Amino acid sequence: MVGNVPVGGGAPITVQSMTDTKTADVEGTLKQIYSLAGAGADIVRVTCNDPEAAVGLAQIVPRSPVPIVADIHHQYKRALDALDAGVACLRLNPGNIRKPEHIKLVARECLDRGVPIRIGVNGGSLDKDIRDKYGDKVTPEAMVESALRELAYFDEVGFKDVKISVKASSVPLMIEAYRQLAEVTDAPLHLGVTEAGPPPGGIIKATAGIATLLAEGIGDTIRYSLTADPVEEVKAGRQLLESLGLRERKNVDLIACPSCGRAEIDVYAVAQQALEAFGELELPLQVAVMGCVVNGPGEAGDADLGIAAGNKRGHLFIKGVNAAVVPEEEMVDTLVEWATFIAEEGIDAALAKVDVEKASREAEKDRQLLLAEQGDDANNAEARVELMKKRS
Ligand code: SF4
Repeated sequence: MVGNVPVGGGAPITVQSMTDTKTADVEGTLKQIYSLAGAGADIVRVTCNDPEAAVGLAQIVPRSPVPIVADIHHQYKRALDALDAGVACLRLNPGNIRKPEHIKLVARECLDRGVPIRIGVNGGSLDKDIRDKYGDKVTPEAMVESALRELAYFDEVGFKDVKISVKASSVPLMIEAYRQLAEVTDAPLHLGVTEAGPPPGGIIKATAGIATLLAEGIGDTIRYSLTADPVEEVKAGRQLLESLGLRERKNVDLIACPSCGRAEIDVYAVAQQALEAFGELELPLQVAVMGCVVNGPGEAGDADLGIAAGNKRGHLFIKGVNAAVVPEEEMVDTLVEWATFIAEEGIDAALAKVDVEKASREAEKDRQLLLAEQGDDANNAEARVELMKKRS
């Protein structure tokens, strides 16, 4: 347990992030913690890098909406300060708190207070002797050895309440390190690609590493380390877990067709408008924006709600069933209205409210109109095949 949040042992995978304010700035840090929690962070890490930060933590912890983990590097005394401040968990970097007596002292204190520790191995700050042993290289084996050495110190004082991370900025390296770690420990694992960089590249790197491991059943809590507002880290983490079906949906999952020669609207623009209109609204639905009524309702038939364009009109569909026709300029507003209704009243209530027969008739009319204009072969595939046949 990190405070009241379970980690590991079959609990839902949790999303973490870290504040980038000075911890001594209590109000500024709390404001950011509230933004992170609002975006879906389950746990937030805060640096405890000097005595002023520790004083700040003492005021932040009781006012935080989520459990706080203190990030400790180099100075074991800051770990003891953070425990006095009442944090829910410590993160220790084995690469830079090296003296065994200091590590054991911190672990003993955590044992007494029932506070867990994350052993946060980082490829970039690996213990020098371990690195030397592996030819001055950061290898998966070296990272796992660093974590196990720390675990052994904890064992000596009977402390077992740990989670472990073996992060690296190289995706293949971190994947292999976590795989090897998962073979030798049952401790919950905290996943991350460290220093992943700014979005979108950073999001892709972090996703490549984290998603690969999650799909193998490895990992209990995740953090995206992006060079960006930490709220972006939380959004990315939530979206990954939702898209893998590992956490319940919180906001709208907007799907949209990629657009093609059949599109009757600027699909990119309408999808973007819909994304902005839904924003952070807590509507746990899948909503589709489709460029044409010829294929749209069928292709997005599993979506809770969707709209497809045709003949300057928007055809609203609910679970693939044509439900209403609206002017093209009202498409996005209509989607938001219906999404709100469905979230509150359910799909059946929505379908009971509409004239399905009329909407289907109108959709069929526009569909036939488009087919007459464009044919049922928008890319002229038949003519192309004929050409090929003639040549052969
Ligand atoms: S829904 Fe229509 S416009 Fe969008 S990709 Fe499919 S055929 Fe093309």
